[in-house]
Amino acid sequence: MQITLPDGSPLELADGATVIDAAAAIGPRLAKAAIAGRVTAATPGVTRLVDVAAPLHAGDRVDIVTLKGDDPDAVDVLRHSASHIMAQAILRLIPGTKYAIGPTIENGFYYDFQFPEPITDADLGRIEKEMARIVSQNLPVTRAELPRAEALAVFGPAGAAGPAGPGADQPFKVELIEDLVTAAEAEGSGVPTISVYTQGDFIDLCRGPHLPSTSKLGNGTFKLTSLAGAYWRGDEHKPMLTRVYGTAFATKEELAAHLEALELARQRDHRRIGRDLDLFSFHEEGPGFPFFHAKGMRLWNAMVDFWRAEHVRAGYEEISTPVILRRELWERSGHWDNYKDNMYFTEIDEQPYAVKPMNCPGGLLVYKSRRRSYRDLPLRMAELGRVHRHEMSGVLHGLFRVRYFTQDDAHIYCTPEQLEDEVRGVVRFTHHIYAAFGFSDVKIELSTRPDKSIGSDEMWERAEGTLSRVLDAETGPGGEPLAYVLNPGDGAFYGPKIDFHIRDVMGRAWQCGTIQVDFAMPERLDITYTGADNEEHRPVMIHRALLGSIERFMGILLEHYGGNLPTWLAPVQALVIPIADRHAAYGHEVLGALLQAGIRADLDARGESMGRRIRDGQLQKVPYLLVVGDKEQESREVAVRERGEQKGSVLLADAAAQIAGEIRDRRLPPA
Ligand SMILES: [Zn+2]
Ligand SMILES: [Zn+2]
Repeated sequence: MQITLPDGSPLELADGATVIDAAAAIGPRLAKAAIAGRVTAATPGVTRLVDVAAPLHAGDRVDIVTLKGDDPDAVDVLRHSASHIMAQAILRLIPGTKYAIGPTIENGFYYDFQFPEPITDADLGRIEKEMARIVSQNLPVTRAELPRAEALAVFGPAGAAGPAGPGADQPFKVELIEDLVTAAEAEGSGVPTISVYTQGDFIDLCRGPHLPSTSKLGNGTFKLTSLAGAYWRGDEHKPMLTRVYGTAFATKEELAAHLEALELARQRDHRRIGRDLDLFSFHEEGPGFPFFHAKGMRLWNAMVDFWRAEHVRAGYEEISTPVILRRELWERSGHWDNYKDNMYFTEIDEQPYAVKPMNCPGGLLVYKSRRRSYRDLPLRMAELGRVHRHEMSGVLHGLFRVRYFTQDDAHIYCTPEQLEDEVRGVVRFTHHIYAAFGFSDVKIELSTRPDKSIGSDEMWERAEGTLSRVLDAETGPGGEPLAYVLNPGDGAFYGPKIDFHIRDVMGRAWQCGTIQVDFAMPERLDITYTGADNEEHRPVMIHRALLGSIERFMGILLEHYGGNLPTWLAPVQALVIPIADRHAAYGHEVLGALLQAGIRADLDARGESMGRRIRDGQLQKVPYLLVVGDKEQESREVAVRERGEQKGSVLLADAAAQIAGEIRDRRLPPA
């Protein structure tokens, strides 16, 4: 028979040849490296990832998958096989364990187990050792298709079908087989066979494909990373299982680089920094509701003071609207229909109310509170609005996923003619704000009309045209055209939008800002302005947020800087350390001078040694430590340590002026 290679060239093979035969026909090195095949059948033209042992058919287009290069399919097969090897190791070490499912995920894999006794992180090492043994045993991995009854006998109770083999007594697998059969029958596709994979003393229910043998997973290329709880099938009424996470890479070097990045991320975890720097906490009494401590509020206020000052300069007014409003308003605004599962409700005077998940309806009531003329437009109303949204308890994550947050919201009301200028203004403003916080790598996405939408074709065309015209004409910091990605059909149902993603120092992208044109809300809440023609017109409404959520942005900042915030944001900008008790009075004088200069300064006069207090100040990530002793007191100086570096003694007045200048200019720490 004849098959086709990816470059289009034909290859003659014996009838019944497999993927590995095709690889061998091309060359022995490829046969050695092959771990799977991407096969596109001539009809119906679907591409499938298959085992190297899978038979080929005349007319197939065959692409040999190897771990060389960055083939995502190859890494996926590798990680999936690693999850089987991990399950095998665990079953060998801990008899009586029930195994559930073990998929790959971004950067790794996991497998869920029900253990007879709980395991801890300390057990991961011995599981890795057993995995290494399985790899060295080089067990062939074979696929089999079993009829339903046979598959159930394999995984069913021991003794039911003769002596118990691998897979016996696995109730989760039995449940999965029964569901597979039910689903297939519901589809009318007949009673399916069940594919299983065997390697030595381990068998698993699996669609595949898998590495052809366990040694293809090289030793030193995998690592078990953590444990977590997870409900069977994500259902809280079902048993809680233990999820064992791991990762695997094609090479030891890639694994090492990944583990290093993980360690960096762990050290920079904002939840850890928040605790260590005494910024915020979470409590059982309000899961997902952050509590900000005194130092956290210093950071909060530094962010918000800057945000407010810049908004005044950009021509915004600030408003504030209630957190709880009548349910009827949310019905009118459309939130009830589209968003009620994420909202909290309450009652006042026996009337139904809702806690706001967004600020827009309240903002519109402010707009409506008086007659608006075309002379009032554009009207830019900003609101640092605290919104509450219900998130499942399982997804809550520090400041990144919370149940209340403060949007740095604004609604701009303008005439259709003003839309372009307003959008341009927001695009520039957004870049300006991000740059001040130290984010200059900004990715922009423009999302256009989705299938389900309201508004006329003409409105959409005009709004989409306006947004793309603005982006096309803008330039980046170096004068280069602003790059953006088009997401056709990804807009909101009420209008097109521009999203901003910032990239942090670890290369992660965070969607923060958004500009959304809204045709629906002005209609629904019936807002108008009086035109020059003395007629009532509908204004265009723009929703926009720059940071998105103050809480989440704070988390991003903490991780981006690893807690070493720019001085203008640092909760404690300078810490005065008098060497001995006799320097306390001068220390207080230094503190007073710093506070007078507008610097957030503290004094550490604890009875600890100077070395200890300097170390603590550094651990607290205070940018400036100012040590004072006899010499400094005499000459009215301070000995400066800037971010761990000794800078020598300078006059107190000069030090204060320098720090104040750095704060005023919002200077960023060197990268
Ligand atoms: Zn599998
Ligand atoms: Zn809004």
